[in-house]
Amino acid sequence: MPALGIVISNGTYRRTPRSATTTVPTHEFDIAIIGGGPAGLTAALYAGRNRERAVLLEGKAPGGQLLNTELIEDYPGFLSILGGELATVMEEQAAHFGTQLVRTEVKAVKMLPGGMKLVETYDGDYLAPAVIITAGGNPRKLGVPGEEEFAGRGVSYCAVCDGAFFKDVHLAVAGGGDAAVEEALFLTRYASKVTIIHRRKEFRAQPILLDEARKHPKIEFMVDTIIESIDGGEKVNHLSLRNLDTERRSVLDVGGIFIFIGFIPNTQLVDAHIDHDKAGYYKTDPMTMMTNIPGIFAAGDVRSQLTRQITTAVGDATTATIAASKWIEDWRRGHDDTPPELVEATLHGAV
Ligand code: NAP
Repeated sequence: MPALGIVISNGTYRRTPRSATTTVPTHEFDIAIIGGGPAGLTAALYAGRNRERAVLLEGKAPGGQLLNTELIEDYPGFLSILGGELATVMEEQAAHFGTQLVRTEVKAVKMLPGGMKLVETYDGDYLAPAVIITAGGNPRKLGVPGEEEFAGRGVSYCAVCDGAFFKDVHLAVAGGGDAAVEEALFLTRYASKVTIIHRRKEFRAQPILLDEARKHPKIEFMVDTIIESIDGGEKVNHLSLRNLDTERRSVLDVGGIFIFIGFIPNTQLVDAHIDHDKAGYYKTDPMTMMTNIPGIFAAGDVRSQLTRQITTAVGDATTATIAASKWIEDWRRGHDDTPPELVEATLHGAV
């Protein structure tokens, strides 16, 4: 099999430089896994152990959001572990059972006649009957003036990556979910003070995190408050705020703002309609993690569900991969349940 990026075979592990491919090779597998976060790496592990010919396609370093997380204390088996360390162990374990890990960005997934899927990447095409989408997503933006302008100059979406640049600085954190509160706590290592700005009084964050934040001497809360603009000169130096209860406007002097207001799932890769919820997350069958498209499974942060944890991503991927193996068996027996109109819709009648 021609190799691109990171290649693992027969339990051995080697890295090859990213190649500038001039031709477009096509590789055939049983399962193509899109995305290399905890869900993707778990799918790779299970697919390898199930002796499927499997490939994991990931544009960046394996680990996904683990790489943006400092300390993980809620992954069973580890009292605490660094995000980067967990990513490395998961990657090695995924590779150990023979799944190929390839560093390349996926452009599109198309349905072919007969139930086969075509995964187009910037380095070639991959064919597989089963595709497991574990592509995660990107941080949601506030969409206020100054956010784009000051990105990297006081506006950040990653506390672990950028926190250390703000020693003894007053910081703001936007959001009221687990990520906002957890990352605010993390930022207290560096900041002189952290103000959590949330648009409502009620928080989505877990009570245990909220309690910890409320007790923290460096953290204060501003609720019912929205950020109208992020302002400064060279760098961010203040925020313009509005209280939704009183309509009172105010200015908060800060040296930076970390925005944790949720996530937009990477669900735009498949050239066919996949049923999704209001926020855009894929709806899946709870028994199998299969989407409404036969042979396309989803796991982790792209999937519509109550919560998005490392543990749930890993669980989703386990189910998805076992179900994918069973689905492939059926498919090989000639049970192609892909509606022809899906194929037509994605290929525009080209095949
Ligand atoms: P989240 O739970 O969806 O919370 C997003 C927060 O941002 C909410 O408070 C929301 O306010 C606010 N928000 C959304 N859009 C906004 C806007 N335009 N302007 C201002 N505020 C806005 O997202 P998350 O915190 O990123 O967490 C995502 C998932 O990961 C959750 O399931 C969470 O439990 C999980 N997670 C878990 C951990 C952990 O357990 N250690 C850590 C991080 C994340 P409203 O409440 O008003 O909608």
